Formats: sequence, C-alpha cells, structure tokens
Amino acid sequence: MPQNETAPSSAAQTTTVTPKPRKVPRIVVLGGGTVGLYAAKRLRKRLGKREAAIVIVDPRPYMTYAPFLPEAAAGSIDGRHVVAPLRRAVKNVDVLQGNVAKIEHADRRVTIQPEEGEAYSVTYDHLIVGLGSVARTLPIPGLAEQGIGFKTVEEAIALRNHVLNRIDVASSTWDPELRKKMLTFVFVGGGFAGIEALAEVEDMARAAAKYYPELDAKELRFVLVEGSPRILPEVSEELGGYTLEQLRKRNIEIHLSTFLNSCVDGHIVLSNKMEFDTETVVWTAGVKANPVLQDSDLPLDKMGRVICLPTLQIADENGVIVPDAWAGGDCAAVPDLTTPGAFCPPNAQHALRQAKKIGENLAKVLRSAEPEEYSHRNVGAVASLGMYKGVAQMFGKIKVRGPLAWVLHRTYHVMAMPTWNRKIRIMAGWTSALFLRREVVSLGAIHDPRASFRSASTPKPAPEEKKAVDHADANSKGAKT
Ligand SMILES: Cc1cc2nc3c(=O)[nH]c(=O)nc-3n(C[C@H](O)[C@H](O)[C@H](O)COP(=O)(O)OP(=O)(O)OC[C@H]3O[C@@H](n4cnc5c(N)ncnc54)[C@H](O)[C@@H]3O)c2cc1C
Repeated sequence: MPQNETAPSSAAQTTTVTPKPRKVPRIVVLGGGTVGLYAAKRLRKRLGKREAAIVIVDPRPYMTYAPFLPEAAAGSIDGRHVVAPLRRAVKNVDVLQGNVAKIEHADRRVTIQPEEGEAYSVTYDHLIVGLGSVARTLPIPGLAEQGIGFKTVEEAIALRNHVLNRIDVASSTWDPELRKKMLTFVFVGGGFAGIEALAEVEDMARAAAKYYPELDAKELRFVLVEGSPRILPEVSEELGGYTLEQLRKRNIEIHLSTFLNSCVDGHIVLSNKMEFDTETVVWTAGVKANPVLQDSDLPLDKMGRVICLPTLQIADENGVIVPDAWAGGDCAAVPDLTTPGAFCPPNAQHALRQAKKIGENLAKVLRSAEPEEYSHRNVGAVASLGMYKGVAQMFGKIKVRGPLAWVLHRTYHVMAMPTWNRKIRIMAGWTSALFLRREVVSLGAIHDPRASFRSASTPKPAPEEKKAVDHADANSKGAKT
C-alpha cells in the first residue's frame, strides 16, 4: 500500500484523513491493462523514485494481452503466457489489487474496493485513467444466464475447457437431441475478437474431434450471428468477404443481418425465425467504456468515455483542461488527428501508443515543459483464423491471406507482447507444438476443483443404514401402488 494517507473506510462513507504533505508527487494509474502498464513503464523510465511515486490499481495482478486470447482459447498458447504480471513487468511501482469504485478528482481521491475487506481511499496528485472497456450487452432474454464474454483470460480458458468438455460428454451420450445441443456452439458478433475466437475455437474443436471415433466431425455445429451485413469491419470488404468464404468452406454457419432475439435455457431464437438449442453462447458483439466512470466527476461523452484532448489530457466538452488528469485506451474519447472529426478506435495499437505518450507528456509537465499531441496512423490489422490460416491488411493497401497472414499475425503480436519472458515462453510453446501437436485435453473440473474432495468428505450411510433406507423406500413405494 502506498505510504501516507490511505485511509481504510467504507465505500459508502469515506473517512477523510488530513493528508500529510507528500515528499514526491503521487501518480495513481487506474487499470493495469495496456494503458496502465505502458504508461507506468514510460513514467518510470523518465522519472526517478525521488521524482514521483507511481501506484497502479487493478483487480487483477496482471496485464492481459487480449489479441492472444483466441490463441489461448485454442490451446496454441498457454493461458499464463498471455498475461504479464504487473509486479514483474514494471519495477518500482506500487500495485494495489482492487476495483476502483469511485473517482473524486476534485478532491484528488479514488475509492478502492479490495476483493476482501473494507473499501479505502487513496489520494493523489496526478491521475491516469486506463480502465478499458466491458462487453456491450443487450437486454436479450436468457443472455445474462447463458452467455459468456471473451474479454479476459479467464473467459478464454473457461470457453476452451467448456468446448472440449462438451465434446467429451457428447461422445458418451446416445440421446441424439442432447448430443446435438452439446455440439452446437454459437458466437454472436462478427468483429475481430468474435471472428478470431470463433475460427480458433472451431479449428481446435475439429482437431480434438479426430480423437473421438464415436463422433462424426460433421456433428460439430458452429454458428455465427452478426447484426450487420458484413464481418470484420476493420478490414476492406474484399478481405471481409474472403474471410467469410473461408469460414463457410469450413462449414461454419453464418447468419448476417441477423440478431439474437432470445436464448432462454439455451433455446436460440434468431431474428430470421431460426430456432435451435445450444449449451454455448459466446457474446463478442462490441464493447463500451468501463461503467465505473459513471461514478466519477470526470467529463464523459455520450458513449460514457472520458473526454480527452489530443495531448491525452482530460478536458470538458468545451476543451477546458481538467488539471492533473490523463486518459487513454478503450475508455477514452481521443481525437484521431489523422482523420479529422473522428476518434481513435478502441484497439491495442492505439492504447499502447497513447500510454507511452501519456507517460512522456506527464513527465514533461512535471518538468514544466509543454505536452505534445498524440497522432498515429493505423498500421493495419492482422487476424488468425486457426492453424496456418489468417488475413492481414497493412498500411491500408497491402492485403495478405492464408499462411503468410497467419505468420504475420504471430510475428506482429509476439513482438507486441509485453516482456521478453512472455515472448520467449510463447515462441517456445509454438515451436514445441510443431513437433508434439496441439494440446486438446479438457480440464473442465478446474472450474469446480473441490467437487471430488466434497464428495469424499460427505459421510455415506453405513451398509445397515442403507439397507434400512432401501427397505423403507421399497415399502413406501409398495404402499403407493
Ligand atoms: C479477444 C480480443 C482480441 C483483440 N484483438 C486485438 C487485435 O488483434 N489488435 C488490437 O489492436 N486490439 C485488439 N483488441 C483490443 C485491445 O485488446 C484493447 O483495445 C486494449 O487492450 C485496450 O487497452 P486498455 O488499456 O484501454 O484496456 P485493457 O487493456 O482492457 O485494460 C483495462 C484494465 O482495467 C482494469 N479494470 C477494469 N475495471 C477496473 C476497476 N473498476 N478498477 C481497477 N481496474 C479496473 C482491467 O482489469 C484491465 O486490466 C482485442 C480485444 C479482445 C477482447
């Protein structure tokens, strides 16, 4: 915990303790994701420990490199290798594990709710907001109960275990309807995250199905539901069309201009009147700014994003700077200077570069220099669609497809993955998979690890008691007939 006046308090009634004057300014970074990690790293590079204290707040002690989540779900990368532990990745910062519950910038104070125990507040001199986004859901009947998102490593690994487990269970089930339901997998949302998740998981499921002689690979049914008339809006229509064609060749069922109307108890109803049953609904239909920002006095736009100037300083709608406050990434509305009137799209490419700029600019301001404007022209997009399959569009014009695009995807992202430790582990995993083949074991029980211990600890009735129970049971049944 940072020194000075962090005061234990409840979120509802925050106790205020008069702060002792600080020797060095304290910079609080909200969120330890792409923006949080890289802004803190750059600040530490520019400012010594005697110039600034840096505190990162995040409920998770690691940064997740989301572009690798589809490969983690497919088992091509170990789940632990797509995250960078904050304490190891940035030296000489404090990491507070907890959720930011409230931001009172006028008082330079944030309230933090740890996983266990009372909420407390932390005061600061400068604030960096990198709280990212959450899944943008809709009030569709059954979605909250049936759906799974695809934004965290926990969701990606749970999805992998679930899909492999359904294949395991279905292969030992003779009820045709139940089997069909278990082997139907629905993905809603045809943006980058959705298409990559669908393509990678489908590729893995088909590879796994080869080990089940009881199962015909044709029984696996993967369905994509997309509200707009096309997929992958991030690349050209031509590449989007190519991807669509490739997915269709793999027997993936695609419903464009179609909406999910309901999924109560796994019964899917689509807007095109189609109905079927499933046990898997993956929701990847877009993101929205972290809703915790609503509990702040920072200026937000209509979409709930923090309003920023091109310098990444937070400002009100009239462009008046909110002093000592910076933001970037998915939760920020940052003007895109390369496209007048537009805002930077929510992707890692911008988040990473904005983070570095925030670090540079804040260090400059602390040394009484002028901050610089952020400007970055999109370098393109690369997507993996399963082993040796991919699409890429670079610098707007260069379009690549197939194995070369897949190699570009892996090369680009492994270089962007934070820390050499993780880069090396990922590359070692890929290399060993070339010789040892892909891992397709399901660790479904990991989601209830205490089940077998619970069952072993539950006292069983003694044989005599059991006989007496069975006897009484038989009598009562006989009495009824
Ligand atoms: C599956 C998937 C694939 C993607 N693929 C690509 C790609 O190929 N290329 C690309 O450019 N972009 C891609 N993206 C988008 C990219 O990952 C994001 O745009 C980027 O991570 C945004 O960075 P950020 O720092 O704003 O948010 P994040 O990196 O999400 O970080 C937000 C952090 O805030 C923390 N947080 C949340 N709530 C709180 C709270 N209350 N208190 C404290 N901390 C909190 C979170 O735990 C998280 O660590 C992908 C995203 C997904 C989900």
